[in-house]
Amino acid sequence: MIYYENLFNSNKKFVEEFRIKFNDVLNSGWFILGNEVKNFENEFASMHNVKHCVGVASGLDALTISLLASGIPEGSEVLVPSNTYIATILSILHAKMKPVLVEPDIKTYNIDPNKIEEKISSKTKAIMIVHLYGKSCEMDPIVELFKKYNLVLIEDCAQSHGAKYKGKLTGTFGDFGAFSFYPTKNLGALGDAGAVISNNDEYADRLIKFRNYGSSKKYYNELVGFNSRLDEIQAALLSVKLKYLDEINNHKRKLAKIYLENLKDDFIKPVVDENYFDVYHIFNIRHNKRDQLKEYLLTHKIQTEIHYPVPPHKQQAMQGIIFGEYPISEEIHNTTLSLPCSFGHSEEEIYRVVEVMNKF
Ligand SMILES: *Cc1c(COP(=O)(O)O)cnc(C)c1O
Repeated sequence: MIYYENLFNSNKKFVEEFRIKFNDVLNSGWFILGNEVKNFENEFASMHNVKHCVGVASGLDALTISLLASGIPEGSEVLVPSNTYIATILSILHAKMKPVLVEPDIKTYNIDPNKIEEKISSKTKAIMIVHLYGKSCEMDPIVELFKKYNLVLIEDCAQSHGAKYKGKLTGTFGDFGAFSFYPTKNLGALGDAGAVISNNDEYADRLIKFRNYGSSKKYYNELVGFNSRLDEIQAALLSVKLKYLDEINNHKRKLAKIYLENLKDDFIKPVVDENYFDVYHIFNIRHNKRDQLKEYLLTHKIQTEIHYPVPPHKQQAMQGIIFGEYPISEEIHNTTLSLPCSFGHSEEEIYRVVEVMNKF
């Protein structure tokens, strides 16, 4: 069986270094907000050439706390792509704001910059973009718009660690770059973890308070905060893996190239453009007989996934909250299929998937 992803295989290379780090943390006797979190935050900020990184408990929290730290009022409208993982939209609701969905570009699967302006109202205060599947959004027009309308720009980078647009890393274009280190992400912990990067001192100060009960001085609470801290253990393991992020991304890019060059044209493949450095968190294709293709691959012992089977506006939880029709998002959800493309996969396995796929 070629699994979609086997997380033991994806982490095998790091096991010895993980054990050493685990012992370090255990022996230190310090498990919350200590040197390991500080170190990782410094390393992650330095990789992005930004002033601040604040570790939090998850990607969802990174997004929610960014919205709150921005200081925009409850009830504000936040623009968000109609095809994203539900967490992006949940963060807006948890921050007591209103998601306003913008359709994606059918070629890139990311928010369509040409459809943003028509959704801006007097209540619009922020735009939360998502660099889906490991491809940056088209940033030039987005940066122009968020400046023109004085919006807060939050980048959901949960799928885009190390991805670039015109040589610039995702997460560094706006006010906040929100990351998840969920185990399957390109930079994945061995549990839940997340972080926010920012160049703004005031925002960083509020992020630090929000993640820790609204407090920066023990037992003095200035904000209505959360318990959303990055664990010392996860931070230590993430420091190990951060050194290998380029290697992980390059491996995924190498596997993606095999698909791009060898899959027959019946499958709609991700677009490649010299302005984009894609990290293929997910390598997807689209096909009209997606469900049949998935079944066929499974009978040939190839496991695939669908990211995602149900669009956010059709989720039961969003009934009465999100209105309107989003046919482009639905088209993507109905046809997309994610192929094996992880750090734990070999080139041989990818050639095998190609061989079977091309006989469909
Ligand atoms: C994974 C993911 C999140 C949420 O991250 P968690 O760490 O699971 O909370 C948010 N947005 C996108 C696009 C994601 O893929």
